[in-house]
Amino acid sequence: MKAIRLVRVGDPSPDLVDALVVPLAEEFGVPCSIDVRRIDPLFAMHPERQQAHSSQLLAEILRDDGGGDHLLGVTSLDLYIPILTFVFGEAQMEGHCAIVSYHRLRQEIYGLPHDGELLESRLVKEAVHELGHTLGLRHCEDWECVMASSHAVEGIDLKGWEFCPACRTIVDQERTVSAL
Ligand SMILES: [Zn+2]
Ligand SMILES: [Zn+2]
Repeated sequence: MKAIRLVRVGDPSPDLVDALVVPLAEEFGVPCSIDVRRIDPLFAMHPERQQAHSSQLLAEILRDDGGGDHLLGVTSLDLYIPILTFVFGEAQMEGHCAIVSYHRLRQEIYGLPHDGELLESRLVKEAVHELGHTLGLRHCEDWECVMASSHAVEGIDLKGWEFCPACRTIVDQERTVSAL
């Protein structure tokens, strides 16, 4: 990995996109910036489900090969893949592209009052997690590791946004390789 570019999909909150820049740069040890490109997600919307097809958006993000950079789509839209009710995000395993949604990371979805700080920390964790998959990392057994799999926000809240030592080793190797 040599750099991360955030690609806005639809109209995500500028504050939330901004909030990803520093933590992602720190976790992966590479520069992170917001891409000029913004993707119109209309083509990927399912009319009945009112959700956006995550894999179709991923394919659209991939139309730009990234020039060696990793691309992370960020959206407020509810994402799905046909076999699942919803997904928090999706990544191209050992590729360079991923997408995250903060739709279901909002407390409001669960009938609770808005919590901006919690939303931000959940989004950072999901962003680190999906980008971790692009580096070939699989789900981790360590529940505190950012690569632990989470099917609900409770699981996301339990883990940190950092890699456990074993996952960290792989991330660091990946960085060294791309620096050569
Ligand atoms: Zn995962
Ligand atoms: Zn781990």
